Amino acid sequence: MSLVELPNEPIAAKNLVAGEWRDAASGDRMDVVSPYTNTVIGSIPVSAAADVGPAVAAAKEAAESWRAVPLKERTQTLFRFRELVLENIDRMSNLAAIESGKTFAEGKAGVLKGVEIIEYALSLQNLDIGTTLEVSRGVTCETRRVPLGVVAGITPFNFPAMVPMWQYPIAVTLGNAFILKPSEKVPLTAHLSGELMVEAGYPPGVFSIIHGGREAVEALADNPDVEALGFVGSTAVARAVYERVTGRNGRALCLGGAKNHLLVVPDAEEDVTVDGVVSSFIGCAGQRCMAASLMVAVGDLDDLIDKIVERASKVALGPEMGAIIDEASRKRIEGDIQKAADQGAKIRLDGRGAAAPAGYEGGNWLAPTIIDHASMEMECTTKELFGPVLTIIRVATLDEAIALQSSTPYGNAVSVFTSRGDVARYVADRAPTGMVGVNIGVPVPREPFSFGGAKASRFGQGDMTGAGGVELWSRVQKITTKWSLQPDANWMS
Ligand code: NAD
Repeated sequence: MSLVELPNEPIAAKNLVAGEWRDAASGDRMDVVSPYTNTVIGSIPVSAAADVGPAVAAAKEAAESWRAVPLKERTQTLFRFRELVLENIDRMSNLAAIESGKTFAEGKAGVLKGVEIIEYALSLQNLDIGTTLEVSRGVTCETRRVPLGVVAGITPFNFPAMVPMWQYPIAVTLGNAFILKPSEKVPLTAHLSGELMVEAGYPPGVFSIIHGGREAVEALADNPDVEALGFVGSTAVARAVYERVTGRNGRALCLGGAKNHLLVVPDAEEDVTVDGVVSSFIGCAGQRCMAASLMVAVGDLDDLIDKIVERASKVALGPEMGAIIDEASRKRIEGDIQKAADQGAKIRLDGRGAAAPAGYEGGNWLAPTIIDHASMEMECTTKELFGPVLTIIRVATLDEAIALQSSTPYGNAVSVFTSRGDVARYVADRAPTGMVGVNIGVPVPREPFSFGGAKASRFGQGDMTGAGGVELWSRVQKITTKWSLQPDANWMS
């Protein structure tokens, strides 16, 4: 039985500019390769400043009239887009899977999480997001949210549908024109989203897509008409993009990489912990910024660790766990595992050389791997490996575990597995992370709660979804009004 459906013909995606599908001015294109087979499944234009300039100009023109459309009317178009996404959910989930290496079910989960953000954006029409107050006789002050104009989103390979949807549904509903630069590794889901945005009825230029890599990103970051930029990807690029945009006084929120810790204490409930740890490190083959990749075992947890190893050893490569994004990443991760072994850690489960699922022999497969008895001097405890690898480090006390967790430069999430409320609160109170999990391996907040980390996992202020998204893609305008002079006017009147 096939795990996913690969297209018969490669899909030739184009840029979406001013409502038209366009090639790059240079004519350059690059291939899109499926991690399942390492075969070409599509291609994209490789865009540069010559493509970004016209896209931003068209978006700027579109933003002028789009901001004048009342919020409730703008929302109607998003209702249509939501219906179209749900009608096409299998197609979109399959595309997300074949280009990112996820399983079909994981592809679908990402689309559904995107739909949840759409639903949050749909609810904005019913929220009073302004205030008014008579501050002096005859004088009122009013605040209201106004769109920024042209805004852009740069997204990573690991969530082809969800991470773009973290951004554009809220941004366009608030009245901005949005330009998406999807990862060049997973542009096909974005291409389908563009087709559905056009079909939903967004006016030309309100939603645009620019394909490509670094050059396109830098042109967007440097364009003074791009008022705000949301970035999600690795820490080094997040920092560089943040500095570029804020250096010209633009607004930026750039989410970066992560190394998330699971603190497991002896009173942790066994089944919940084994499930939570294994699903967290193998989900999306470990290619999640919220994957818990470092387990800090407090005290003697040998029995529990044996069960984690046993459960992970039974994960079926293909049906239950997908592929690594590309050959180079698979080799890098395998090298990281070897380095840990060379440095004296014990490889309890070795996923290297595992048999590929039948029919997908050419893909980038790596089965779950568990590195035990690691120490803080080893790279596997500090570096984001971004693969299905769990590293275990053992400590004697909870305070040691917290100190170790706090020493990481990243700040996305920490999870604690315990059956005691006071232990959970003790960890949460000391966590320097944006997100905390209690008995849950992937503590991603559901809407309307916002997603966002801290430290080197986030450059800028605020969060990316929920109320954080409203802050990111709008500004608060203050209007002070005086209609008539009062007989007892004071200095303000
Ligand atoms: P990446 O940084 O390589 O790429 C992200 C985006 O930046 C892509 O669109 C890419 O084209 C562009 N890009 C790449 N190099 C660039 C450069 N030198 N200059 C300008 N733009 C550049 O990240 P990735 O490999 O696609 O994604 C994996 C990373 O993303 C991991 O580190 C993961 O933790 C992180 N991530 C973080 C979150 C979060 O919410 N914090 C969510 C998902 C992924």
